[in-house]
Amino acid sequence: AKPQTSVKLVLLGEAAVGKSSLVLRFVSNEFQEHKEPTIGAAFLTQKCQLPNRTIKFEIWDTAGQERFASLAPMYYRNAQAAVVVYDVTKPASFVKARHWVSELHAQASPDIVIALVGNKVDLASDDNGPRVATAEGQALADDEGLLFLETSAKTGSNVQEVFTALANKLPEP
Ligand code: GDP
Ligand code: MG
Repeated sequence: AKPQTSVKLVLLGEAAVGKSSLVLRFVSNEFQEHKEPTIGAAFLTQKCQLPNRTIKFEIWDTAGQERFASLAPMYYRNAQAAVVVYDVTKPASFVKARHWVSELHAQASPDIVIALVGNKVDLASDDNGPRVATAEGQALADDEGLLFLETSAKTGSNVQEVFTALANKLPEP
């Protein structure tokens, strides 16, 4: 059998950007149009098969509401991987994502592997108002050494790829 490694992963980002929906898509390949907000944090696990090893992600899906933000350190403290999510149709959520990235770099484990994810690309179109440009997300990721992908939890686009990319970037034990 292939060796299996358990990896603690935390999701961070403003409320309603689609954190829980990305997890639901990754874990169950489902989408809910009216997903009930997360209270505090939810815990799920899902395996990612690599050619030479299996990564078992232990996923902490946090609530983005301000009143829970003070709890975040509890979830990212021992995390080996993080997904920082923003909504490509909500520029304010990208500002918030920048803050989460700084906070992770200041407070989390120095070897944490971080993916920056611009979600809801299915909604991005000219008539939907301002969109966070792909180049803006890519620039932040390049500056900060992050993986970067634009996703849709609704269509499933690039969701599996986020977790596979993280798994591939994790140091071999
Ligand atoms: P969270 O607060 O970050 O966990 O966000 P949720 O996963 O609860 O999603 C908030 C809302 O956005 C829900 O109504 C979801 O159905 C919707 N949503 C999440 N991801 C997407 C997406 O990729 N595309 C679209 N169109 N809606 C999404
Ligand atoms: Mg949620």
